[in-house]
Amino acid sequence: MTELRTFQSYIDGRFQAPGETFDSIDPSTEAVWARMPKAGAADVDRAVRAAHHAMKAGPWARMTATERGRMLYRLGDLVTAHADELAELETRDTGKIIRETRAQIGYVGSYYRYFAGLADKHHGTVVPIDKPDMDVTLRPEPIGVVAAIVPWNSQLFLSAVKLAPALAAGCAVVLKASEDGPAPLLAFARLVHEAGFPPGVVNILTGFGADCGHALTTHPLVARIAFTGGPATARQIVRNSAENLAYTTLELGGKSPVVVFSDANLESAANAVISGIFAASGQSCTAGSRLLVERAVAQPFLELLTRKAKAIRIGDPQQTETEMGPLATARQVAHIERTVSASLSAGAELLTGGTRPEGFAKGFYVSPTILLSEDASLPCVREEFFGPVLSAATFEGEDEAVAKANDTEFGLASGVFTTNLARAHRMTAKIRAGIVWVNTYRAVSPMVPFGGYGLSGLGREAGADSIRDYTRTKSVWINTSDAPIPDPFIMR
Ligand code: NAD
Repeated sequence: MTELRTFQSYIDGRFQAPGETFDSIDPSTEAVWARMPKAGAADVDRAVRAAHHAMKAGPWARMTATERGRMLYRLGDLVTAHADELAELETRDTGKIIRETRAQIGYVGSYYRYFAGLADKHHGTVVPIDKPDMDVTLRPEPIGVVAAIVPWNSQLFLSAVKLAPALAAGCAVVLKASEDGPAPLLAFARLVHEAGFPPGVVNILTGFGADCGHALTTHPLVARIAFTGGPATARQIVRNSAENLAYTTLELGGKSPVVVFSDANLESAANAVISGIFAASGQSCTAGSRLLVERAVAQPFLELLTRKAKAIRIGDPQQTETEMGPLATARQVAHIERTVSASLSAGAELLTGGTRPEGFAKGFYVSPTILLSEDASLPCVREEFFGPVLSAATFEGEDEAVAKANDTEFGLASGVFTTNLARAHRMTAKIRAGIVWVNTYRAVSPMVPFGGYGLSGLGREAGADSIRDYTRTKSVWINTSDAPIPDPFIMR
């Protein structure tokens, strides 16, 4: 039997001797492969206090924004240089295929470098004040200790969009990795250390939501919560933040529509739909899980899509030729099987999949699944699977496409496939979602804001403006007159 790897938390610049631990399971074999530190309220308290101290008294507090930027840049380069090794850990711990983890983590370095460049370009302003003898300046100051919480999928990516702007702004961070698949984030702590961040500026731990997550989001010294996860947890976190009144942003789930018009390049649209729902085994918040296809091309398009779905190479996520690996947890498989079964019983038609793929006695595998349902009340149309299940429906004309696309309580991403430029513009204006991709899908960049409408969340991550969310403005009024203050009973 091979020795289990043991990971450590990183608190106040030190790697902690593992105390209580929990097992991490390789989703492709269902075998325990590592032990993770189980942080509780006492560890959280130490980490938050270390972060608070770093912001108040440590060298971080005195560092110029340019120096902070340099450090962030170094971190970005370290992530890029270690992308392969981090990718292998993420694949091992979450089952996400190696070709995706390598590509995604290779790109994560860009987020740190982008915000490194912004660190000393985000500055205050002078207000052309409407009162004589007064100078008014607005100073952006770091908001305070940030609690960053991420789910299991794409943990390095989802933490980069929080850490990079927070550190660029001068905050200190306590980052809680998901209890599922935390290995890459705990390994990333070594790079933070190597980049030279002073103790307490970045703390990385993992544990379960009910104790570790709760302690972090209710901690009185936390000023800002940046959360990515599901809507039910988000509601709990908003309730938690009533304790410390931390400024909270939420990146949540989706049921994103992909609208294919009959004039679209159907081959390209089919590849985009496949990428939207079957890449990462559908475990993407932006998964294009609702296909809306114009009736005139519905039959050939669904046939094309079904052929492509059946041809997906399912296998060991560590092999570069594998196109779809397992899901991250047994819990996910059970949720998907339940929701597919409820949808089929309620009248959805199964075009392909719906079962575990053949030849996989072990591992959390689910076949690429396509359901057809014109009844928008079915669970497959309404609920997020967070897995490889596409729910397809048809429409006639733009109005019906918009009505069906917007018939959801979510509003994270969307796709529109058409060769009609005017129609593309009309659709982008009418679709209610934080992202509209036209003739493409699943493209992201540190330069572009990311976030949702409705149940998909609150606030935006990435994009130059996201640094503002880690600052608060101090308004400084200076009276430039030597004259005595006039009537003290009148507001100036
Ligand atoms: P989850 O909400 O169960 O868990 C997310 C994180 O919250 C985990 O670290 C968990 O430990 C923590 N948590 C749980 N209870 C908590 C509590 N009471 N207090 C504080 N923290 C707590 O989500 P999940 O199942 O791990 O991830 C899947 C969800 O994440 C999906 O809904 C998916 O769409 C969403 N997601 C959204 C985005 C986005 O950017 N919009 C990106 C990826 C995933």
